Amino acid sequence: MPRCQIFTADEIASLRKGGKILHGALELTTSLAKPGVTTAELDRRAEEYIRDLGAEPGFKGYRGFPATLCTSINEETVHGIPGGRVLREGDLLSIDCGVLLDDLYTDACITLSIGPIPPKTQELVDITAEALARAIERVRPGVRVGDISSMIQKTVEAKGFSAVRALTGHGLGRDLHQFPDIPNVGEAGTGPHLPAGTIIAIEPIISSGSDAIRESDDGWTIYVQDRALTAHFEHTVLVTPEGYEILT
Ligand code: MG
Ligand code: MG
Repeated sequence: MPRCQIFTADEIASLRKGGKILHGALELTTSLAKPGVTTAELDRRAEEYIRDLGAEPGFKGYRGFPATLCTSINEETVHGIPGGRVLREGDLLSIDCGVLLDDLYTDACITLSIGPIPPKTQELVDITAEALARAIERVRPGVRVGDISSMIQKTVEAKGFSAVRALTGHGLGRDLHQFPDIPNVGEAGTGPHLPAGTIIAIEPIISSGSDAIRESDDGWTIYVQDRALTAHFEHTVLVTPEGYEILT
């Protein structure tokens, strides 16, 4: 049976520090994401920020991924590769980033709009953020993965949106993705129990259309089948003896 990795106090201190750097990198790139800016520029600035603080980008080189950020615009759902694409007014952009510090990974994502977006799109963004917040509130020692998954599913389906089923949250630590998977759909009272001292990345990836995925020709970027808009928020969360601590 696979087990959840439990971290020592020293390791948790490193994870906290790495998570803080990751939080700062996302704040910086959010402030820079304006019309006319390329995703390559956001990527360059994030990498510089992370390295200046003595950490390493967690995604760069991971299974051959070429960049510090995953930047996914509009019809792109996850794993978009930063490049020459210029941000425009009305774009929906998700910025996903990982940090590696003292051989430990943290992982987080935000979705933001470049200027105004239609109310229905804003609703998608807001409900995805709310699903993450409500899922995190469930975390405490002994919570089951299905308790987290079902909270995400219930929250978004109540507003007519659906979780992209093939993409899940995950345990992390020594590896960027490790036991257990944290699906965005599921049943309360099922799945592995989470012990205090472990960390998980909870990441609702929510669609306004199809909940099935398709891969693009670049081998990385993932869309939903009808190319509907999607939103994605993620935090790395520590299970504490009292409940939870958001590390990112
Ligand atoms: Mg991520
Ligand atoms: Mg993740």
